[in-house]
Amino acid sequence: MGDSVLTTPMGQSTVLIVDDTPVNIRFLAGILRDEYRILVATGGEEAIRIAQRENPDLLLLDITMPQMDGYQTLERLKGDIRTQKIPVIFVTARDSLEDEARGLDLGAIDYITKPGSPAIIRARVRNHLELKHYRDTLERLSTQDGLTEIANRRYFDAMLDQEWRRGTRSGTPLTLMLMDVDFFKRFNDHYGHQAGDDCLRAVAATLRGALHRVTDCVARYGGEEFAAIFPGLDASKVTNTAERLLTQVRSLAIPHAQSTVADHVTLSIGAATTQPHRNAAVQDLLKAADEQLYAAKKGGRNSFRQVTLPT
Ligand code: GH3
Ligand code: MG
Ligand code: MG
Repeated sequence: MGDSVLTTPMGQSTVLIVDDTPVNIRFLAGILRDEYRILVATGGEEAIRIAQRENPDLLLLDITMPQMDGYQTLERLKGDIRTQKIPVIFVTARDSLEDEARGLDLGAIDYITKPGSPAIIRARVRNHLELKHYRDTLERLSTQDGLTEIANRRYFDAMLDQEWRRGTRSGTPLTLMLMDVDFFKRFNDHYGHQAGDDCLRAVAATLRGALHRVTDCVARYGGEEFAAIFPGLDASKVTNTAERLLTQVRSLAIPHAQSTVADHVTLSIGAATTQPHRNAAVQDLLKAADEQLYAAKKGGRNSFRQVTLPT
């Protein structure tokens, strides 16, 4: 493999083997143990729990099992956002074409008939793991900002859209914040572009670490501008959250000799809260947050401004 960004090292992949018969698990584990980290489950429920928790790279799934069979297990995995992208190979004694067609139709990526040849199983597993690795890499490249490794604007826009629609259905509020580093041009001019990049990385990591809920999302929105969404956060809680973000960035204590508002790096934040509904546009929320950011800059920087949009 060359040095292309698409061929970052694969590291050790994790394979989850699901079978109610221990001798089958031992057979498959024996074939794959040397190359991969192996997890095992003896039933569908257990497999789903482990898959949600461990996010394995590949599942080898038996079909005939008591309680929940392999088809049901696959349907549950495909219906859960946490597990739907994990490739599943059926490994089964059922050798009818109907069974194979049904398995592939439900979304299994391959179908192996037991007992199967160790060399073929090893090769198929390796091929599917390689494809999985490329998919993961592409997904990361298309959703993540290269410099700071937090979400990029494309991903953020998709999340904002999704949370707007979710808020419309659930009737829960949505808060959007736009954040901009104060006097960052002077920072670059004084400390150099490399130090500027390091600063952006540190600010990004701090903002991400300051989020509380799994549905909160922060992204790099532009050069030295960040954006965050807080689904369910109403206007009364904006002060606490914005102050926390401002404080944590100040606490980085990155020296900024050219700033006139502090002797270290600070942010300005514009926040807008609304109740999403069908007759409103998400662009109005963005525009409102941008106006508040502008007001925070005008009003002295190193601070936040907020607005609540009427519904
Ligand atoms: P204000 O307090 O009003 O926000 O002033 P500012 O200087 O922060 O704003 P301005 O928009 O004038 O300058 C932003 C600077 O951010 C200019 C640009 O060189 C720098 N910048 C944008 N992207 C990057 C980047 O990826 N790395 C580095 N090092 N600098 C960047
Ligand atoms: Mg700025
Ligand atoms: Mg700016």
